Amino acid sequence: MSFLHMSGISKRFGATVALDGVELQVERGEVHALVGENGSGKSTLMRILAGAIQPDEGTMTLDGKPYHPSSPMDARKSGIAMIYQELALCPDLSVTENVLLGMEDTRLGFVRQSEQHERVRAALTQLGYPHLDLNAPVRNLPIAVRQIVEIARAVALGSSVVVLDEPTSSLTQADAQKLFEVVRTLKAEGHAIIYISHFLDEIKLLADRLTVLRDGNNVGTLPAAEVDANGIVTLMVGRTIDDV
Ligand code: ADP
Ligand code: MG
Repeated sequence: MSFLHMSGISKRFGATVALDGVELQVERGEVHALVGENGSGKSTLMRILAGAIQPDEGTMTLDGKPYHPSSPMDARKSGIAMIYQELALCPDLSVTENVLLGMEDTRLGFVRQSEQHERVRAALTQLGYPHLDLNAPVRNLPIAVRQIVEIARAVALGSSVVVLDEPTSSLTQADAQKLFEVVRTLKAEGHAIIYISHFLDEIKLLADRLTVLRDGNNVGTLPAAEVDANGIVTLMVGRTIDDV
């Protein structure tokens, strides 16, 4: 049984069928790319995973247990972390405050400040950023580093599934390379990573497997090594996996 299993997921918005019985299985220690043209249903599937919307049909299991998040908070508590294109960090808070935002024990005041710093430092060190100034307001950090802080927050919260939605769209080439290193670290640490990107060379570089959506339907899932960029495009726009 897969670590995360989304099965038969359907979602309609009025007359639009956004998802029609979609299947997604992701393992720990895997970078799983989710690809498809605009409107194919990627974000809708991830919003269901993140508890932001409810599916009309379908079931989910996480670590072998039924998983039906009633809210984004519920999903976060279950270990699902979403790193959105538009970052969710609070610009006026420090790195530490941002990383710890959402930790229940912090809100209740049980974790002393030194322990908080240690947790944040541990998460950032693990990701290869041991020297970041934890007291700096996030607004002073470059966007690439803010993204690292978001990912550190996911690690510090103990998230098992990390969803990255178009993470390199506003990064320089050099910052994208650093992010890839962070993604590889997450993978090595046993996180399950869902990676949405339009850049097929990135997918070839990072992903173990990819799942292709087209018009809300599953085209299928295959090992990234078995398909080149042209093959991925072919799957996205209209042929079956057997044709590639
Ligand atoms: P992708 O992320 O792959 O670009 P989406 O999941 O955003 O695709 O969209 C899938 C389909 O569902 C599209 O036709 C989109 O217009 C529609 N859709 C998504 N969200 C809504 C919504 N809240 N209301 C109405 N239609 C929506
Ligand atoms: Mg989208």
